[in-house]
Amino acid sequence: MIAGTVDAKSVRETLAGFGDKVISGEQITREEAAWLFGLEKTADIFDLLAVANRVREHFKGNKVHLCSIVNVKAGGCSENCRFCAQSAAYPTESPRYGLVDIPPVLEAASEAQANGVTALGLVAAWKGLEEGPILDSICERLDELKKAGKARPDASLGIIKNPRVAEKLKSAGLECYNHNLESSSRYYDKVCTTHTYDDRVQTIKHLKKAGIKICSGGILGMGETREDRCELALALRDLGVNIVPINILNPIAGTPMATEVKDPIQPMEVLKTIACFRLILPRQEIMVAGGRTVNLRDLQSMIFMAGASALMVGNYLTTLNQTVEKDLQMLRDLGLDPKWDKHGFSDQEPQTMTTVG
Ligand code: SF4
Repeated sequence: MIAGTVDAKSVRETLAGFGDKVISGEQITREEAAWLFGLEKTADIFDLLAVANRVREHFKGNKVHLCSIVNVKAGGCSENCRFCAQSAAYPTESPRYGLVDIPPVLEAASEAQANGVTALGLVAAWKGLEEGPILDSICERLDELKKAGKARPDASLGIIKNPRVAEKLKSAGLECYNHNLESSSRYYDKVCTTHTYDDRVQTIKHLKKAGIKICSGGILGMGETREDRCELALALRDLGVNIVPINILNPIAGTPMATEVKDPIQPMEVLKTIACFRLILPRQEIMVAGGRTVNLRDLQSMIFMAGASALMVGNYLTTLNQTVEKDLQMLRDLGLDPKWDKHGFSDQEPQTMTTVG
């Protein structure tokens, strides 16, 4: 039924049919996903947003999940991710410091709680984690965060090759781990060459096997194609991730992508991509994260109509966000409700869509 020949009326009907199909529990096929990502006319994209909004409402109601991050180790990273200001390979002005002590982590948790944020992610700029004193220090911080009970203890600590590391993190109280695939498997070596896409997939599998929820998404606007974005969404579905952060490249002076990427991704293309992700990943939290203010400008509040159900609030790792109060006002103005509960995972999220391990 999908072809390049559908007329405007059929596009609207086809999209409505996709909405019904997804709400009834069926999956968008690979061919249908490719067709969605190929939509170009503004009128068609608005029709797509309306369907994505219906799917979001069906699975998420008016709840919006809020997350924040705290950088527990900054800069000087051995990896060469070409978008990242924290790589030691690039001359950026990003701050550098070693592992922070426990009190700043607990202060960040208090701030998160005051803002109604569900989860606080401890983020470290390094390749990954092995067993040893650094892992023990991280576990200590996670344990303190859990005991404080102010925000769900999450983390983003890079590549994990040893399943015992994942098990130790789980024992320390870690509930959800962020590890982005960033882009498609095909495009990954344009993003980074010091580790592989498969390293990232394997990390996610170790964490899932240890019973840790997965937050994994990517970055739009790095020079990838629509096909790459489609492949990313399908790969995340196959992995059965729980939260899908969508970042939009905010080029930082000194990083290769600041000069390589000539044409920033356009706001309507970003909204369309969020909507495609919502139809392909209907039960997941689709979280709009870094780069939203600078790339979406006046269209920022439309992310929810496009199907987003979660928001990263507070500052990002190396760039500033709009204030939390402004974000909360945006949610109130839209009649959306930032949910605050201990875990923030609903039974609408995938438990295990694909067996991994
Ligand atoms: S994205 Fe992470 S792994 Fe890559 S350079 Fe930045 S801090 Fe290092």
